Amino acid sequence: EVKVLSDIEIAQQSNMKPIAEIAKEWDILEDELELYGKYKAKINLSIFDRLKNKPDGKLILVTAINPTSAGEGKSTTAVGLGQALNKIGKRAVIALREPSLGPVFGIKGGAAGGGYAQVVPMEDINLHFTGDMHAITTANNLLSAAIDNHIHQGNTLRIDARQIVWKRVLDMNDRALRNVVVGLGGKPNGFVREDGFMITVASEVMAVLCLAEDLMDLKERFGRMIVAYNLDGEPVTAKDLGVHGAMALLFKDAIKPNIVQTLENTPALIHGGPFANIAHGCNSILATKLGLKIGEYLITEAGFGADLGAEKFLNIKCRYGGLTPSAVVIVATIRALKMHGGVKKTELGKENLQALEKGFANLNKQVENIRKFGLPVMVAVNKFTNDTDAEIELLIKKCEEISVEVALNEVWEKGGEGGIDMAQRIVNMIENEKPNFNYIYEVDESIKNKVNKIVTEIYGGKGVVFTNKALKQIKKLEEMGLDKLPICMAKTQYSLSDDKNLLGAPKDFEITVKEVKVSAGAGFIVCLTGDIMTMPGLPKVPSANKMDIDENGQIVGLF
Ligand code: ADP
Repeated sequence: EVKVLSDIEIAQQSNMKPIAEIAKEWDILEDELELYGKYKAKINLSIFDRLKNKPDGKLILVTAINPTSAGEGKSTTAVGLGQALNKIGKRAVIALREPSLGPVFGIKGGAAGGGYAQVVPMEDINLHFTGDMHAITTANNLLSAAIDNHIHQGNTLRIDARQIVWKRVLDMNDRALRNVVVGLGGKPNGFVREDGFMITVASEVMAVLCLAEDLMDLKERFGRMIVAYNLDGEPVTAKDLGVHGAMALLFKDAIKPNIVQTLENTPALIHGGPFANIAHGCNSILATKLGLKIGEYLITEAGFGADLGAEKFLNIKCRYGGLTPSAVVIVATIRALKMHGGVKKTELGKENLQALEKGFANLNKQVENIRKFGLPVMVAVNKFTNDTDAEIELLIKKCEEISVEVALNEVWEKGGEGGIDMAQRIVNMIENEKPNFNYIYEVDESIKNKVNKIVTEIYGGKGVVFTNKALKQIKKLEEMGLDKLPICMAKTQYSLSDDKNLLGAPKDFEITVKEVKVSAGAGFIVCLTGDIMTMPGLPKVPSANKMDIDENGQIVGLF
């Protein structure tokens, strides 16, 4: 029997080229490349000026059905599709999110793809990479320090210490920091108040990085971020505290997209990675736009299932970036569809055609949704070793019944070679089907209308219930003139509804919006449907307990 190699073992056997060599092959000038060692670099934003007259490549979004907790392989598919497109002679670039250290040491694992469809150097990408997370953490916490210092120094802005909405952050899963008291120790140590920590990727600073056009736009967005309310209930911003310039300064390098490569030497831009619940869950607009300039095709992904990830990618990111995707790939796995058909987690390894047929409803709904946006769509069946031929045949037949393009996706097992059919089909689809892209709502509609459209059109629900608290918050945002922004839904990724146990394609459900907040710098309104965790905890046996490094630098346990 052949031993299945772990991701890190595969990654360490790869034939990486020096990143300068890859940059050269892709017409990135030496002066535009800022090396971080031999295999990582940042790309100077001056490249946009040089390439401003070069036509953009085609944008492909990879998204998924509502996943199981293991993930259905969006990153793996995005990487593998990029590798496969290059195999058939197309110049394709990949853009992905940066992994956060919290989940690396926790439970979810890294975010660099898997099997033979990975980005490398995997250990660097998953561990400190080029320091972007440090810049985000520092900028966020500079603002926190400025708030407490302002109060300590006399509080001329009359900040209401009970209404400070800005939290400190750390790139770690650490539940003990969720709620803390700061300023203990008497007068020289400031005013005592309740505070809390979020994981770095949940910071609005991260969302701003991912939506900013350039450094000046980044600074202005930082300035608009609301940190607290004063005693009259009026917002206090980062600009009021005068630190948005210093925050932007911390981003003089972090704003530049990072370039690495896949196992098959395809360029991969990895930049920014906001939470997919309280934020929009995609890599930076700058990385996406850069990829469109460098390649004929740019493949990117959005967090969670298509009901959240693709919806926010299209309604938020594409709107701010002026982007139009040429095609959307929905990753589906047989095990997750069986789960949507009612099969228990422990039984997912066994063939079950009936459950697969029933669970197909979830995929069907996601396909229908992408069509509502007016975009060409393809299903990529991410093949697992347990999948039976009968199951694969049935799934392909079901896709054909709803006239959706479908391809078997074996990139995890075979790399680019396992995605050639998928690559050819997507190229054909893009050549033959033109997008007729439209948003699901317009930003100048009322908050309630916008949410209602997402719930009825995308989730398939019958309506929205706003709690009294949420209604008050909506009224306040209207008074502040901050209601004409896109909506960022925060709900469970496991169901189309806000109840993680309602699988398949539920109907007649209502979504309850419990809280409405504005991220005024990022430029969206967050609607929370449940308790959303912004500081994860570690599991009983964290991944960190399996990790090690020996005297030769050999790493184990990094997935
Ligand atoms: P997502 O981006 O949807 O969260 P990932 O691409 O990160 O999913 O994949 C989640 C995990 O599943 C990774 O550890 C990856 O190696 C693994 N994986 C993905 N596809 C397959 C497959 N076909 N067979 C086995 N493992 C897979």
